[in-house]
Amino acid sequence: MDLVVVGSGFYGLTIAERAATELGRKVVVIDRRPHIGGNAYSANDPETGIEVHQYGSHLFHTSNVPVWEYVNRFTAFTNYQHKVYTNHNGVVFPLPVNLGTINQFFGAAYSPTEARELIAGQAAEFDTKTAANLEEKAISLIGRPLYEAFIRDYTAKQWQTDPTELQAEIISRLPVRYNYDNRYFNDTFEGLPVDGYTAWLERMADHPNIEVRLDTDFFDESQAINKAATVGQVPVIYTGAIDRYFDYAEGELSWRTLDFEQEVVPVGDYQGTSVMNYADASAPFTRIHEFRHFHPERGHYPTDKTVIMREFSRFATRDDEPYYPVNTPQDRARLLAYRELQAGEPDVYFGGRLGTYQYLDMHMAIGSALSMFSNKLEPAFRARA
Ligand code: FAD
Ligand code: UDP
Repeated sequence: MDLVVVGSGFYGLTIAERAATELGRKVVVIDRRPHIGGNAYSANDPETGIEVHQYGSHLFHTSNVPVWEYVNRFTAFTNYQHKVYTNHNGVVFPLPVNLGTINQFFGAAYSPTEARELIAGQAAEFDTKTAANLEEKAISLIGRPLYEAFIRDYTAKQWQTDPTELQAEIISRLPVRYNYDNRYFNDTFEGLPVDGYTAWLERMADHPNIEVRLDTDFFDESQAINKAATVGQVPVIYTGAIDRYFDYAEGELSWRTLDFEQEVVPVGDYQGTSVMNYADASAPFTRIHEFRHFHPERGHYPTDKTVIMREFSRFATRDDEPYYPVNTPQDRARLLAYRELQAGEPDVYFGGRLGTYQYLDMHMAIGSALSMFSNKLEPAFRARA
């Protein structure tokens, strides 16, 4: 065994695949979950055969050419383009905010120029360049009326944190458009894996030099591969939570977790689209996913049943799966302290969402793993040799 990878998400699998294929190294990947793939894992619902993304809808999109070329080695992609709608006061609007949303909301037929002028006036209380937090940034981009309708209460449900304490970047993920384009993402490449996420993830691990051990927690000393037994013996790629690695010595980092309520509904189409957000405080969930709409090309899905999943957000305790870093000023201070501790572990490479306490999309996790491999791990292996 030349390398231990903790976590079989996209970050861990990318490193494992590269080390096995490019360097001929023997890699053991462990994961505490009973399945491969981290949060991107999906499974077919047994009753309907519909592919369900177990940890919430996962949409692949990137503008990074090397990442796109790399992922295409393991899967082909459909031409799915993500579009989201939101229910506000019982009326459905297109997202992200675009000319259609603006005209429907104000009951108008503004041209792009007229809409820009209207929103500029409503957004004037904050400057986008100096906006210091999520609320200021959102108002500076779309004005207060649209912020209060579509962002304020949804964000309160999603984060249960004062929007003035949240980082402005969270809202920068959503484009604002003064035309009728309501694609959710701006990226050059977008699509869903033709035969599902798990087939893609399994192909990444399908190499004679890679062994995957599931139900194996790195901190469980009854398992053959654990922190005490491996660190210092072989290089370790660690994609679990950084605060857990150091036994929370600098305090806990705050995370949001999600609860999912899955249901098979006896209709062919429940909501007419894959993701419907619920903007108002009156709905306890943030959104409903309907998975059949991700694959309209799949002829075998039943026409009289569909799978939906309601998504609820709350603070994560140590026993929950951490999903979104909250990233308050206190979290950022603690993260810096953990980064200093990291410097004392030269043979452990921290990566991925949990290991770096960063919101990373799949293409970002894969891209950062590819960079880490060529800039650090490969040179380190060559130096040892
Ligand atoms: P993960 O997938 O979280 O993998 C980490 C793995 O480490 C897990 O399997 C975990 O079990 C394991 N692990 C942790 N601790 C230990 C331990 N002590 N011992 C052993 N194993 C351990 N990205 C997109 O591009 N598009 C989307 O639409 C999208 N939607 C998302 C929706 C949600 C709700 C969430 C949470 C994320 C979404 N993402 C999306 C992000 C995507 O899931 C991540 O980019 C990707 O999973 C990153 O992979 P990772 O390897 O960093 O982490
Ligand atoms: N957001 C919102 N209303 C919406 C959709 C998003 O207020 O209908 C805000 C919310 O704060 C969310 C952020 O925009 O966390 C980023 O949205 P995105 O859809 O990227 O969130 P994710 O899919 O990562 O949950």
